[in-house]
Amino acid sequence: MTVTTRFAPSPTGTLHVGNIRTALHNWMFAKANGGRFLLRIDDTDRARSEERHVESIRADLAWLGLAPEGEERQSARFDRYDAVFADLVARQWIYPAYDTPEELELRRKVLLGRGLPPIYERTALALSDADRAALEAEGRRPHWRFHLDHVPIAWDDMIRGPQRFDAATMSDPVVRRADGSWLYLLPSVIDDVDMGVTHVVRGEDHVSNTALQLQMFQAMGAAPPAFAHEALLTGAEGKLSKRLGSLGVEHFRGAGIEPQALVALLARIGTSDPVEPFADSAPLIASFDFARFGRAPARFDEAELAQLNARIVHQLAHEAVAGRLPEGMTSAAWDAIRPNLSTVAEAADWWRVVKGPIAPADLLPEDRAYCAQAAEAAAAIDWSADPWPALTGALKEATGRKGKPLFLPLRLALTGREHGPDMAALLPLIGRERALDRLDAAAA
Ligand code: GLU
Repeated sequence: MTVTTRFAPSPTGTLHVGNIRTALHNWMFAKANGGRFLLRIDDTDRARSEERHVESIRADLAWLGLAPEGEERQSARFDRYDAVFADLVARQWIYPAYDTPEELELRRKVLLGRGLPPIYERTALALSDADRAALEAEGRRPHWRFHLDHVPIAWDDMIRGPQRFDAATMSDPVVRRADGSWLYLLPSVIDDVDMGVTHVVRGEDHVSNTALQLQMFQAMGAAPPAFAHEALLTGAEGKLSKRLGSLGVEHFRGAGIEPQALVALLARIGTSDPVEPFADSAPLIASFDFARFGRAPARFDEAELAQLNARIVHQLAHEAVAGRLPEGMTSAAWDAIRPNLSTVAEAADWWRVVKGPIAPADLLPEDRAYCAQAAEAAAAIDWSADPWPALTGALKEATGRKGKPLFLPLRLALTGREHGPDMAALLPLIGRERALDRLDAAAA
């Protein structure tokens, strides 16, 4: 049996970081088990589903490197849902209900008022054929409920461990509306059966749906998949944050976050494994295990993401980023500049420092004189080898300066900045001509 997972977003908006995390875990689990990862577009709600969101979901998964082995769309499967529905109605797993929202609300209040759980009382099941005919004659159309078998429901969740529900404490769920449109529960089960889904990985907000859906698998005569319900994501402050719902790939990309950073963070937060700067997903996949997932909410911290991103940028090879670097920025230049970057885009700032022009440094008089000496020394050294040790070695000897007074005025004169990449790597990139001009300018 091939392990098969699916990520099943509704295309009613763009993916947010919580969805991305679920998609990632589905993908990782499939990869870790040599399985298949499917993208299932849950677009039964035709009014709210939009093609542009389907496209952005695909593009976001591609950017993250989560390539699905197949794509399915619920809107292409209505005939199949109708067929299963007809069968389940015929076998009385599904029954028509005519209760109006007002009637249901009234019963709810009555039950609550009596201190009873507000469970649907199956009034529809008490209707005779004649009652139904009379309601139909009034123009009422039924919605459809799944007839729960009032027995205990149990499964061993891959994250939450043993789960128990008592079906008798649950309302028969509505699976189809009076206008024929579908609610999420049943089409999802039909898809999981038809698509050979072996593992359902989703948020813990679906735990009680699972209890209901397990009986639907049974009604279809199908073995249920295994389930992993993950704890939800919270913001850094530890609270469920509205902001998380608005953070998607576009935001992260705009902030210079690499897909590998997002993957490395989302693979590990909420687990007992440390967050580590893996630029490659293989070690993350190798160590992926639902047994390591905790039940407490996973904390998503953008500051942690930014730090992780910097550590991943420092590992990226020139060929991996070349298309995003300024024209002419060589592998040597990337290697020199990379350790100073938080994002790849910042490489352009340092490339401007290399290429110039730079604003002349504002130096103390004694440092201006020192730069004049440095210009002379720079004209005399061999630029074909390692110019920085040659230059600083000569100046150390000539002036007796060492440490910061030796190095800092040179860095200021040559780059216009107090901090930056290693000067030994930067100076050959700046080159003789520009270096002499900059030292002259600083001396003036
Ligand atoms: N479309 C559903 C959702 O986004 C899918 C849930 C599931 O994975 O079964 O909540």
